[in-house]
Amino acid sequence: MSILVENITKLYSSQKALNDVSFEIKTGEIVGFIGPNGAGKSTMMKIICGYLPPSMGKATVNGFDVIEQSVDVRKHIGYLPEHNPLYPEMYVREYLEFAGGIYKVKNLANRIVEIIGLTGLSSEQHKKIGALSKGYRQRVGLAQALIHNPSVLVLDEPTTGLDPNQIVEIRNLISEAGKSKTIMLSTHLMQEVEAICNRIIIINKGEIVANNLIQDIYQQTANKEFTVLVEFNKLLEEADVKQIAQVDKVRKIADNSWLVSNSKGVDIREVIFKYAVEKGYSVLSMQKQEKSLEEVFRELTK
Ligand code: ADP
Ligand code: MG
Repeated sequence: MSILVENITKLYSSQKALNDVSFEIKTGEIVGFIGPNGAGKSTMMKIICGYLPPSMGKATVNGFDVIEQSVDVRKHIGYLPEHNPLYPEMYVREYLEFAGGIYKVKNLANRIVEIIGLTGLSSEQHKKIGALSKGYRQRVGLAQALIHNPSVLVLDEPTTGLDPNQIVEIRNLISEAGKSKTIMLSTHLMQEVEAICNRIIIINKGEIVANNLIQDIYQQTANKEFTVLVEFNKLLEEADVKQIAQVDKVRKIADNSWLVSNSKGVDIREVIFKYAVEKGYSVLSMQKQEKSLEEVFRELTK
């Protein structure tokens, strides 16, 4: 077990930012920690990295307690904080020397060359951090998080504020790192999780509302409701469409098009077709609607 969180509660004066949160992240997993702004993601990550004490509960990283053994925790963890606070006046190499020095990295000069190559910073390595684009600054942040070769990476919104090309580049770097490391990554974007994670933990208002493998989430929601988009050749009334056996929800989309559902997940395509034949209508098109992860997220965090 790389990260173990047990019944963590965090109060900021009287405000509860985390309420009895528990989860575990196994070695080698890439876990997406997703939730709307203010859900408690950054708070949880700071606690895991030993930068903020919880009010109640316990967390360990590679078996080390985040409060009692925070020095060991920091040796095993690489942390990219939200808004990646870098020093704009420092040169890239100077900053990595500084970061590596904190961790007492052996053969630091060699490690810096290696990490610059790994994070694609070669062309920018002699610049001041303040002169870099946001994408390159994020690479410097990742280089800093990786400098001591930790086995666990905690990345707080690593792609927020980047342009689409930069997002792809940073995701690729994360996926590459993920081959040999355990990663916990926070985001408010479902696509991000779909792109790089195997497991997803959804947090809302300081509480965990889902913790599943991505494929299981698809399964669960797929079974919940069966919805088809159907187009008839005629203008029908809602009462007409509601007559169809086993249909318990209808919504008009356009003149002749309807979203028709069975809330228990029963496949209603055949009964719709039979209904049309009986009434002498034609079905011009019929399409099963898949629920996207994005919709699942909105439902769970609304
Ligand atoms: P997220 O990262 O999911 O956006 P945060 O962990 O930053 O959420 O914040 C969770 C809640 O705790 C928010 O309501 C936020 O306003 C509050 N909060 C965060 N940091 C502090 C702080 N230092 N002092 C007081 N309240 C805070
Ligand atoms: Mg945050």
